[in-house]
Amino acid sequence: MNCPRCKKLFRKVRQNVCPNCVKEIDREYEKCYKFMRKKENRACNVRDLSEATDVSVNQITMFILEGRLSIDNNPNMSYPCRSCGEPLRSGSLCDHCMGNLKKIAGYMKEDEQKRGEKEAQEKRERSALYRSGRDQ
Ligand SMILES: [Zn+2]
Ligand SMILES: [Zn+2]
Repeated sequence: MNCPRCKKLFRKVRQNVCPNCVKEIDREYEKCYKFMRKKENRACNVRDLSEATDVSVNQITMFILEGRLSIDNNPNMSYPCRSCGEPLRSGSLCDHCMGNLKKIAGYMKEDEQKRGEKEAQEKRERSALYRSGRDQ
């Protein structure tokens, strides 16, 4: 397949990117980690980190979401909610979007239940019809 990062062709083993990019990403992680660990950089935000390390905000967000980079000691670090862009410090969706998602999932469940009940009802009616036809 083609590497989504550098577009080079490679044989997919376990990683989703080519071996070159795996190494490159590891290097980027190393840079971010070192920068964030320094006391004088404790107050940095994602943008500062991105500018200082030349690592894209997207990649930094990935590191944080993967749990590779911890932002516990960097109070100003945050990344955008996947849905609305609200700054976040944990999870990939903010509480608001998470609530919406749950609501949608709830509706879908209700729908499914209603459909199931209707089908059961139709089955009962059909078998009642069959029985009454046989009795005559
Ligand atoms: Zn690549
Ligand atoms: Zn959101």
